Amino acid sequence: MAVTEPAPVAPPSAHEGILRRQALRESAARTYARSLPIVPVRARGMTIEGADGRRYLDCLSGAGTLALGHNHPVVLEAIRKVIDSGAPLHVLDLATPVKDAFTTELFATLPRELADNARIQFCGPAGTDAVEAAFKLVRAASGRSGLLAFTGAYHGMTAGALAASGGAPDVRVTRLPFPQDYRCPFGAGGERGADIAAHWTQYLLDDPKGGVAAPAAMIVEPVQGEGGVNPAPDGWMRRMRQITRERSIALIADEVQTGVGRTGTFWAVEHSGIVPDVMVLSKAIGGSLPLAVIVYHAELDLWQPGAHAGTFRGNQLAMAAGAATLAYVRENRLAERAGTLGARMTAALQALSAHHPSIGDVRGRGLMIGIELVDPEAAPLTVTAGHGSAPPPDPALAAAVQQECLRRGLIVELGGRHDAVVRLLPPLTLTDEQATAVVDRLADALGAAERSPYRRAVAGPTR
Ligand code: PMP
Repeated sequence: MAVTEPAPVAPPSAHEGILRRQALRESAARTYARSLPIVPVRARGMTIEGADGRRYLDCLSGAGTLALGHNHPVVLEAIRKVIDSGAPLHVLDLATPVKDAFTTELFATLPRELADNARIQFCGPAGTDAVEAAFKLVRAASGRSGLLAFTGAYHGMTAGALAASGGAPDVRVTRLPFPQDYRCPFGAGGERGADIAAHWTQYLLDDPKGGVAAPAAMIVEPVQGEGGVNPAPDGWMRRMRQITRERSIALIADEVQTGVGRTGTFWAVEHSGIVPDVMVLSKAIGGSLPLAVIVYHAELDLWQPGAHAGTFRGNQLAMAAGAATLAYVRENRLAERAGTLGARMTAALQALSAHHPSIGDVRGRGLMIGIELVDPEAAPLTVTAGHGSAPPPDPALAAAVQQECLRRGLIVELGGRHDAVVRLLPPLTLTDEQATAVVDRLADALGAAERSPYRRAVAGPTR
């Protein structure tokens, strides 16, 4: 759609009709559509326009997919170029110039030590497909079936990925503590909490009676997204690298959400300097279209031909859009920009807590920001208290803030263990003015939600 064309704005009745029919016809499992009753008809950069003519600043960005925002000119141009060239759109996993260019661009961004010896597997279209492929790869290579995963993790919705996520136990997955400063599982917080978490991991792996299924890999998010925007401390990440290397356990970094500049470096593992054995990549690498890959050390490439097949692994439009996005982020140093602007937004949000005791914690890395909302008047919960005495999370307030944000033309996401973390994932291209507008609208929404009568309403699921 050309940007100069008038918006195909539907009359308000059409907007309502579409939402009503969605509620009647779509599954009870629908997620974002429940808390965001918007009918997007037009979008550009950070702005979405609904069928009712309302405009929103989008801090959800397709759950962290849109590094360059909606319909960025370089992405549209890359897509048009493929279409106009007459190239086939469906090619299974055959070699094409488009795929060749995507792979070259992607490898140029990877940590050198991995890129020099990397293999790539194009997976089914979603992040969860790439997580499954990673598990299959490490199991084939090691002959072991166990996995190490962390509390609060989120890796996807297919069976294996779900089992490795925090909410669904599986006998082959050993759950390890992910360090958290605000609600430290050991009541310590900071470096001490991370140190105890690492110590427990090491102890458990070496305990012959620890009940750990022989692990093929450890899977970790460098910043937990859905789990409530919990950045892994750099020192702890290095410990995990050391612990896995010493025991010949592959380390899988799930960079589905943290990749492509989001956290202030091109890949979030760069903060700690570790080089994982496998990286799981999706979301932003497809430039807004579905694309998922794993890149891994050649030594692990021991699976059989056809061991991981799939019809939709050759999305040419996604590869072209993705290559354009990767190149644009690299050339325009958008990772650095995400780091600087993210730090500024985080500081501005932290400053708000002086007037809003319901802001329990503001945390994140780059443009992956979380604001944990709490009930300051309730007694601290021992089980969820941090090293101080953190009040209990307030999911109803978070849900009210999300709705108040929407009324003010701001789309935000909720997450965290108790759905009490307001999450910001703006495009890396947002301007200083947009960043200020996001903070202002959020502050205003928080004030309104704190005063609102429905504050204590029961919050629904958000993911
Ligand atoms: N891993 C991480 C870290 C994610 O954040 C997500 C999605 N939120 C996934 C995997 C799964 O990706 P998808 O929804 O595309 O299957």
